[in-house]
Amino acid sequence: MKASILAVGDELLGTDRLDTNSLALTEVLRRRGVELVSKAVVGDDVALIAESLEGLREQADVLLVTGGLGPTRDDLTREGVARLLGRSVAVDEALWDQIEQGFQKLGRRIPRVNRKQAARVEGAEMLPNRAGVAPGQRIEDAEPMPRGTTYFLFPGVPREMNALIADALDPWLAARAEDGAGFDQIEVRVACLPESVVEERIAPVYERFGDENLSVLARPGEIRLRLRASGPVADRGPLLSRMVEAVRDALGESVFYAGPVEGGIEFEAAVGDLLTARGETVAVAESCTGGQLGQRLTATAGSSAYFVGGLLVYSNRLKMRLLGVPREILVEHGAVSEPTALAMAAGARQRCGSDYGIGITGVAGPGGGSESRPVGTVHIAVAGPADSRSHFEARFPGDRARVRQLSTQFALEMLRRMLLSGVGPADTLPWAAPSRMGPP
Ligand code: AMP
Ligand code: MG
Repeated sequence: MKASILAVGDELLGTDRLDTNSLALTEVLRRRGVELVSKAVVGDDVALIAESLEGLREQADVLLVTGGLGPTRDDLTREGVARLLGRSVAVDEALWDQIEQGFQKLGRRIPRVNRKQAARVEGAEMLPNRAGVAPGQRIEDAEPMPRGTTYFLFPGVPREMNALIADALDPWLAARAEDGAGFDQIEVRVACLPESVVEERIAPVYERFGDENLSVLARPGEIRLRLRASGPVADRGPLLSRMVEAVRDALGESVFYAGPVEGGIEFEAAVGDLLTARGETVAVAESCTGGQLGQRLTATAGSSAYFVGGLLVYSNRLKMRLLGVPREILVEHGAVSEPTALAMAAGARQRCGSDYGIGITGVAGPGGGSESRPVGTVHIAVAGPADSRSHFEARFPGDRARVRQLSTQFALEMLRRMLLSGVGPADTLPWAAPSRMGPP
């Protein structure tokens, strides 16, 4: 099977929008072992869309079209396809009723221009869009003889297109893939380990399963490993299980997620799940992160089960007044210090009545650094039940945004470690030894 992609939209011919949808489509084609023979971009014009598709169908059996399904005048993909195939386009009244009712449930009146989004190319199968209004469409056509062509029309909004890839395109391709074509993959996510450390530790995994079946995607404070299995479909599941096991052996407790690439869990949600499973709660006391940790902990639906709240204590006065950090500690050790972070963590826990408290205090920069406390110095502490506690002094690289992001990332990892092993001392954390530096 061969495929081509056509991205439709005037904006994609300008300088402020790039066609990224084709990358997501390319990914699923590769995974299903379908050869991509060409990609093209065309403006919002009925004749040009029809002509482009006419050229592409000579080379490919499946044409994937994205964009131009919106409600506005310039959304003309349906008309372009219809012109090429000599078919009509008409509003599907049953679908329109359904869309109208959906809006009514939200207490909104749907504008009449949206009727376009219920328009169907004659003979098309509608592909439900759980992420938006306009459904996708699949059309089978006999031209060129004898093999014919399948057309998929997807909305341009990336979120909607991705939903349709997962719901409609991927299953369709999977059902037609030859056994042994393409590959299956699993993602393993790891927090707070430097990329170089991950590389070093997984060296045996590369050896055993082949370099080409393992790829590393790094982001600040998190590494994602893609594990890939090709060959007969029946063998792929067991092979991926063995790969995951090997990666777990290499990376240990640092692994917070192993599963499908789509819909994988975010780090803060993984920490939240651990708390939920134990029926425990956390509160935060934040200085240099200005509420970002609380923001992350509440980003997941259902976070009220484990997040009770927090205190945003930028000034020393509030650290004393709201958290009960002793004045002597601030005077003797300074606001950015181990004793202050520990007192903040304990204060958050006690004042908010939670099982765990996290304290973060540091120099996010670019100003405010000193010889003993350079920019990037952050003290993070976790206080838990039975006087358990954990402290980490980081020296994070990067600008203000990076230092703040890494601070919340490491704070979450410290809490996660405490929940997993019940131990306090930060020395048990792989990144705390031998130096007290954060990842490069
Ligand atoms: P449309 O379906 O043409 O109404 O597209 C809706 C929006 O999706 C556009 O305004 C773009 O912001 C975005 N979009 C459309 N096509 C693409 C594409 N190929 N890659 C990335 N974004 C796109
Ligand atoms: Mg458009």
